[in-house]
Amino acid sequence: MGIKQEQTYRGFEQGPIRPPSEANSLLIRVSRNCPWNRCTFCSVYKQQKFTLRPVAHVIDDIDQIHQALSTVQQEAQKSGTLTADQVNQIAEQYYGDARNVFYTAANWLFRGEGSVFLQDANSLIIKPDDLTTILNHLMSCFPWITRITSYARSHTINRISEEKLKQLAAAGLNRIHIGMESGSDKVLKKINKGVTKAGHIQAGRLVKEAGIELSEYVMPGMGGKDLSEEHALETADALNQINADFIRLRTLSVPPGIPLYDDYQSGAFKKCTDLEVVHEIRTFVDRLDGITSHLKSDHFYNLLQLVDGKLPQDKDRLLQVIDDFLTLPPEEQLIFQLGRRMGYFQVLSDLHSPAQRNHIESIRDRLQATPENIDQIIEEKLQLSI
Ligand code: SF4
Repeated sequence: MGIKQEQTYRGFEQGPIRPPSEANSLLIRVSRNCPWNRCTFCSVYKQQKFTLRPVAHVIDDIDQIHQALSTVQQEAQKSGTLTADQVNQIAEQYYGDARNVFYTAANWLFRGEGSVFLQDANSLIIKPDDLTTILNHLMSCFPWITRITSYARSHTINRISEEKLKQLAAAGLNRIHIGMESGSDKVLKKINKGVTKAGHIQAGRLVKEAGIELSEYVMPGMGGKDLSEEHALETADALNQINADFIRLRTLSVPPGIPLYDDYQSGAFKKCTDLEVVHEIRTFVDRLDGITSHLKSDHFYNLLQLVDGKLPQDKDRLLQVIDDFLTLPPEEQLIFQLGRRMGYFQVLSDLHSPAQRNHIESIRDRLQATPENIDQIIEEKLQLSI
């Protein structure tokens, strides 16, 4: 039985998430929610039913953005420039959905990147010919688009022919984000990812061979204490066989409400401490070899934002960033951890900022935080579910 599509257009839609690197992109929703929806660590689409949006409805969305953008551009040409106040004045002519579309178009234009992200969790599940129609329409409305990207599951990519992937690339799809999470078969099975290490490698290579940029998401901490080393080694090995354009770190978080949280509460999943995750990332980075990927740390859950650079030339610097943290005295690690998790610190050198440091030290004293109890305090007293 095929996936059912509704007949009635519900208006312009946008889904709940996009990768951090797509913050400036126009979001075009081509399907709703996740067709897999079984990963134990993922909360985004739980209880939500997957549906495809009819191609005609996606085209309607694109046309609305096109029309709104034309209005913004005409006004900008008339007055030579367009301020935020002028945009707000024009927006007052619109109501409800139309105003939302207008602001979406104006924001996209002013952010200036010209990139588009196709939502939701796995846009490549759409028939390649349908997706090609959508891509062609995007490119004909906005020929200046710089990038069109999408999330996709490895399992789905492996079911698309090489020829169809190349067709999508030719139509403008030039970057795919895959949630690899881990290269360890043991970890992938435990988290119910629905794909093996070999499947991830095959899909990653297919994307690259089609001439599409590849971004692989890795989840430090995903193996828990028991599989931390295996997770680091196997993930590095898988990525060494793919040579993705980007490897993006997104540290595991275990908030209430996800299936993994129940395992954590029962003791079946032993969550790594922040310090253990940093050790794991060191092992992982150390094992990345023979590739030219850009390692990115662009998620706010990551403790060390500066583990970000191009391989192989930046590898020593990346390891040094990690070692700079690991060789700090435990009391200093605690201050950084607390400051980072509370949003006061970004990088290790923030430890030398007297005002921020004094503030964090007073919080440490109030919470009676020690190197031994800091992870528990962050989770229980500060209610941060990292
Ligand atoms: S495939 Fe992605 S969106 Fe779907 S459940 Fe897994 S992590 Fe969540």
